[in-house]
Amino acid sequence: MSTLQKIPVIEEKKGNPLARVFDDLVRFCRSRSLFILHYCTGCGAIELPPAMTSRFDMERLGIQPMVSPRQADILLITGYVSIKTLKRVILTYEQMGSPKYVVGICSCTVNGGMYWQSYATAKKLDEYMPVDLYIAGCMPRPEAVISGLQKLMDRINSGEADSWQDYYRNYDYYLGNQQKLFGEDWQTPTDIITEAKHYELMGEGTLGDHTRLLEQHQKPLEALDMRLGHNIKESVE
Ligand code: SF4
Repeated sequence: MSTLQKIPVIEEKKGNPLARVFDDLVRFCRSRSLFILHYCTGCGAIELPPAMTSRFDMERLGIQPMVSPRQADILLITGYVSIKTLKRVILTYEQMGSPKYVVGICSCTVNGGMYWQSYATAKKLDEYMPVDLYIAGCMPRPEAVISGLQKLMDRINSGEADSWQDYYRNYDYYLGNQQKLFGEDWQTPTDIITEAKHYELMGEGTLGDHTRLLEQHQKPLEALDMRLGHNIKESVE
């Protein structure tokens, strides 16, 4: 569907008070029932157990840990991200259903922190995936983590936390940075372009030189070596 065709639908919804009330209600409920997947990449992860357990108890806000990216709403990146880890972080992010939110905890996710000179770390997380909120500090205390999550809840409630849409609208930019770091044959099993079409979020920046490069190098999914490094059949035997 073209953008021009979509406008009357959106206008109609804007004028329908019942639809607006329903949208507000959905956003409110979503912001009060969040599952987080904490990808413990660096030392900042050490502040998560107190934030989650009885002392600070983030569950009272409606936030609970989740083990699977498929059911998670928030991806927490808790410190410096090595280049090897970043591949897994991107893979995890792409597996999450939309809408999804990313929180970068620790100064290392903002600008590399004390590892800014290291050849092995990615310096700015938001060059590789959209980040909704940073909680800076080396390392931020649980109070700061809780306060950051409350800010994110407010932004979800008000509809401002929409960075996940940016990944679809500017996929070529993110993919370009990923290719610079991992090589031009970088590929994940997720088809972001088809997803962007599905959500009607194709933007001017969705396709470009880097998505063309991806098409050029793209292997069929069966050819991707995504196994854990051992043959399941062999290990059963
Ligand atoms: S900001 Fe400090 S505590 Fe956090 S990951 Fe970096 S070095 Fe570790």
